Order: sequence, then structure tokens, then C-alpha cells
Amino acid sequence: MATRIHEITDLVKRAAEDAGFDLSGIAPAADTPELQHFPEWIASGHAAEMKYLEARDDRGDLKRASLARVAPWARSVIVCAINYNTDNPYSTEVHDPDRGWISRYAWSREDYHDAVLRRLRQVEAALSEAVVGEPMWGGHSCPPTLTTRSYVDTGPIVERVFAKYAGVGWVGKNTCIINQTKGSWLFLGVILTSLELAPDLPAPDRCGTCTRCIDACPTDAILAPYQLDSNKCISYLTIEKRGSISEDLRAGMGRHVFGCDICQDVCPWNRKAPSSTAPEFAHRPGLVNPALAWLAEMSAEEFRATFRASPIRRAKRSGLRRNAAIAMGNSGNREFLPLLDQLAADEDDSVADSARWAKERLLASNL
Ligand code: SF4
Ligand code: SF4
Repeated sequence: MATRIHEITDLVKRAAEDAGFDLSGIAPAADTPELQHFPEWIASGHAAEMKYLEARDDRGDLKRASLARVAPWARSVIVCAINYNTDNPYSTEVHDPDRGWISRYAWSREDYHDAVLRRLRQVEAALSEAVVGEPMWGGHSCPPTLTTRSYVDTGPIVERVFAKYAGVGWVGKNTCIINQTKGSWLFLGVILTSLELAPDLPAPDRCGTCTRCIDACPTDAILAPYQLDSNKCISYLTIEKRGSISEDLRAGMGRHVFGCDICQDVCPWNRKAPSSTAPEFAHRPGLVNPALAWLAEMSAEEFRATFRASPIRRAKRSGLRRNAAIAMGNSGNREFLPLLDQLAADEDDSVADSARWAKERLLASNL
């Protein structure tokens, strides 16, 4: 039986590689010490308005705090990771005042949720074929029943914690999963399975004494190593936050219009990060360091057409234009003043309010 479990585990990892994943590993479907901090993190308000993280079960317990409670049938978690890096500069290397920054993961043509889920389904199918079609399982003629569930961000599970226990990478002080050879430009997908597979060893923490990400974060969102306050994080502010952004955070947002890569750009483990081989993650022209005026003036129709299958839809047109107005205020470029005048009269309150703030900031700046 033990030999067969190892064979199936190897088969799963080969299937992950065949599906195009760069890394895969197996974690036991057990509650880990890290998950005990999750309710505390939620209670402290550090998840900001991301209510989906606060999903609760019938007893009122947080679903993501205990896999054992929410999926008691699960025995193993298959964690798969795929590199989405492209051969383009880091945000910390470009300084064009006419242009903004869209996070690296959102440059692709296809939404990563779909691209990763499609690959997970391939792994799930290979596992199912190997187990359910098995004529003899450990000496028993009856094959075991198999339950599997694939998730990309949407499951009742804190993926990065299980990625650590699957040996895929360690959780860095910036709270991202980092792999020793691939870096941290990784999308994660997980498959919960009722089958007990051979677990990998947890990845050791290799952050050491480094604090680059904490020092570089412009809004001090990394409160302490491994502790993120989403309320201050530019990724949260530009993507998830609806309505106006608190004025005291706007200057720190720089020219970020969707997401933020700074704490990964400065990470030494990303210095030699390889590029992805997955065709879906090739960058779309125009999204690397995009023109701020283009984003701010984008019509509803153009937004729909441009971002049809893109994760950028999540910010909505309103959020993207709001962010572009703030970025113009932080650009030091007074050529944006006429456009900001127009935006200050926009029918969307958060766009108009941001444009007024940006105008004042540009006029007050010493050029
Ligand atoms: S994504 Fe940006 S704002 Fe958020 S923690 Fe990293 S550096 Fe700070
Ligand atoms: S920048 Fe340094 S401390 Fe931060 S995640 Fe990378 S290695 Fe860890």
C-alpha cells in the first residue's frame, strides 16, 4: 500500500509538470500553527474590506482557519505553482512620470484563475484515472472512492500556508511564497483530495536577517515580518478598495494603478527569477508601464474590450480611473493639470475627489 501511495504521488507530480506547473508538492490536510493566527489577523481588521476572507461555516467559525473542520474528508493537499514572470523591468527600475504601474501578474491575456484552474483539472483527471481505474488497490479488489476539489484563490484554504508545508516555498516576510530557484512570481493552485499521498517536507525559511521588503514598502503595510495590514497595502487599495482612498495613503501609492510589486521587486530571491514558459502569461503590449492619460480617459466600452478576460476587471473602471488620477498627482508632471481639471468634474465621486487632490498636490509641488 505504501509503495502504491508513493507511485500515485509521483504520478501526481508528473501530471503537474505535464500540465505546465513549475513546482508541485504534497502537504497533509492538517491544521497548522500558522492557521491559528488567522482569526487574530481577521479580528484585528487587517483584512480590511475583503469580506470573502471572513467566510464562516454554520457554527460561525472562519472557514479558512481550519481545513480539518471545513473539509474533514480531505487527507492531502496537492499544491501546484506556476511562474508568471516575464522578461520586463521591475517597477523599481522605471521612472517615467507619464506612466503608471500595473502589477506583473495582471499583464497576461487570460485571467490567471482560468489558466491555473485548467491545469489543475488536468492533474485532477490524471489522479482520478490512476485511482478509480485501479483494479487492485493495496490488495483490495475494490478501488477507494476519491473526492477532489480544485481551487485558485476561492477555496476555504490559506494557499500559501499549505504551499510551505508542501515544500513549494517559504512564506517570506512580505507574506509571499518564495521558492529558492524560481523566486516569488508564482500563481498557486491547490487540489484537496481524500487520498492520503506521501507528504513533502516543509520549505525552510530563507529570509534570514533581510528586511528589504519591509524597508521598501512605501505605505508601511508590512507591520512586522510576516504581518501585513491590507488597509495600508497598495495592492488592496488599488484593486479591492471601493470608493475614495484615505488621503493619508495616496502619496505613498506613487504611480501604482493596479496592484503593487515593490516588496517582490526588491527581494533578493527575485534577482535572477526565470521567465515563465506558459504562453497565457506573455505580457500584453501597453500594460507594462501604461500611459496614465490612456487609463484615466478610458471609456466604459474600451475598458470592457481591453480587460475582457483580465484580472484588472476586478478594480472596475471607476477604481482604475481613480487610481490613475492619484498617480497623476504623484507624478510631479504638471502637464496632467488640464486632464485633472476634466476629471475633477467626473460623475464618479471617487474619480472627481482623487483628481481634485491630485491637482492640489501638483500645484503645491516644487518642480
Ligand atoms: S504590495 Fe506594495 S504596499 Fe503592499 S506590502 Fe508590498 S510593497 Fe507594501
Ligand atoms: S525581501 Fe528579504 S525579508 Fe523580504 S521576503 Fe525577500 S528575502 Fe524575505
